[in-house]
Amino acid sequence: MSTPVRVRYAPSPTGNPHIGNIRTAMFNWLFARRHGGQFIVRVEDTDQARIEEGAVEHILNGLEWLGIDWDEGPRVGGPYGPYFQSERLETYDAAAERLIASGNAYRCYCTPERVAELRKEQARNKQRQGYDSHCRDLSDSEREANEAAGLPHVVRFAMPQSGMTTLEDAIRGHVEWQNELTDDFVLIKSDGFPTYHLAVTVDDYAMQISHVLRAEEWLPSAARHVQLYRALDFPMPQFGHLPMILGSDRAKLSKRHGATSLMEYRDDGFVPDALINFMALLGWSLDGETEIMTVDTIRDNFALERVGKPAAIFDLDKLQWMNGVYIRQMGIGDLADQIVPFLETNYPEDLLPVDREYLLRIVPLVQERLKTLADAPDMLSYFFEDELQFDAESVIQRGMDTSGTVGALRRAISELSAVGEPDFEHQHLESLLRSAGTELELSGRQFFGALRTAITGRTATPPLFEMMEVMGKERVLKRLAAAAENLSAD
Ligand code: GLU
Repeated sequence: MSTPVRVRYAPSPTGNPHIGNIRTAMFNWLFARRHGGQFIVRVEDTDQARIEEGAVEHILNGLEWLGIDWDEGPRVGGPYGPYFQSERLETYDAAAERLIASGNAYRCYCTPERVAELRKEQARNKQRQGYDSHCRDLSDSEREANEAAGLPHVVRFAMPQSGMTTLEDAIRGHVEWQNELTDDFVLIKSDGFPTYHLAVTVDDYAMQISHVLRAEEWLPSAARHVQLYRALDFPMPQFGHLPMILGSDRAKLSKRHGATSLMEYRDDGFVPDALINFMALLGWSLDGETEIMTVDTIRDNFALERVGKPAAIFDLDKLQWMNGVYIRQMGIGDLADQIVPFLETNYPEDLLPVDREYLLRIVPLVQERLKTLADAPDMLSYFFEDELQFDAESVIQRGMDTSGTVGALRRAISELSAVGEPDFEHQHLESLLRSAGTELELSGRQFFGALRTAITGRTATPPLFEMMEVMGKERVLKRLAAAAENLSAD
């Protein structure tokens, strides 16, 4: 890459970032890291009405959670700051003045009512809707009179009214627009704030952005931006519009497809590496086949040539599957650490804090079956609870009766009581209980099924003997005794 790579993520702080926003951030970050360039975060907070309190924090925390670091922007500063557009208003004013002076922009005094009325009329006449350039050709005296009267105004760009605007997009290829289809759009609003079009152009230039990689929804705006670059005599960055993300039914992605805000994924128990891997495949591919890739592999191979034009399809099942893959690859200590916050928010006070040593022995038993970290509280609860709540009768297995079941539990109690603590390990427990089961003339399914339910209150659990070993002698005996007692009491 000849020019130094400087790319930016330019979120508007209007809410929690959704997966599409973060995919954009991530592609920019990958591109910067791949080319040893800079990744910049710039907050586009000029639409005062839509700003949401706390949104900037959400966005930045989300990036940090994913391990997406930025070289310039909020929290870190940098030589091209400030990185909040609301703090850069003079820059936009100066650019607008320059455009007015060069005849590329003009003050428009039309009232919002006139503009609205115009649109209605255009709709009625089935005409293209847009501003009719009314104030473009005001005479100097009309303009002076309007100023003298203190009329509120906006600043509009004088869009060329014929010809074409063209763009060579790094992803879309050659794109062109007929200029007559774009009206004289607003640059500075009546509240003195710039519009997105002006601010984005001025800032991308001022911050020396080399590549503008952003969502495809901004492609139509690029016609205006190209014209602004020209009129301001700024060199153009390379544009690249990332493919859309659609739901599996090819409709616009929404909550209905399981797409939520980034932090909800965290709270739902998705791990950062799985999300990174998943999002990378929303538009980019290594070779069209490989699914599971480390972030290093993704970064080292990230290239715009491998970003496709077709819309990417968001598949929640795939994300869940991927998350399971990442959970299975995690080290036990790491997984335990990541599970703890989920236990802490879901368990009652008296079960907290959980014993880390105990958790470290439980985790290997369930690692295979966890799809998300949020599965853990329920999946592990019986390891921690003091008294299990379940239907006593459920211990009785098919072909057994109450007294047979109580007898089987008592037999297990007497066998296990005799085992010394150090010998309470799964192979020994298995051989001991297998022979006891044979002597009781019970099938494995019956005897072990009864023990499993007595110890856990459930029918689906990790392997019985490993589980007993992890739970330890005291806990196992206590549960078997409680189950036997509950059954005899019935
Ligand atoms: N502020 C715009 C957004 O929130 C950024 C568009 C762009 O990257 O140019 O999507």
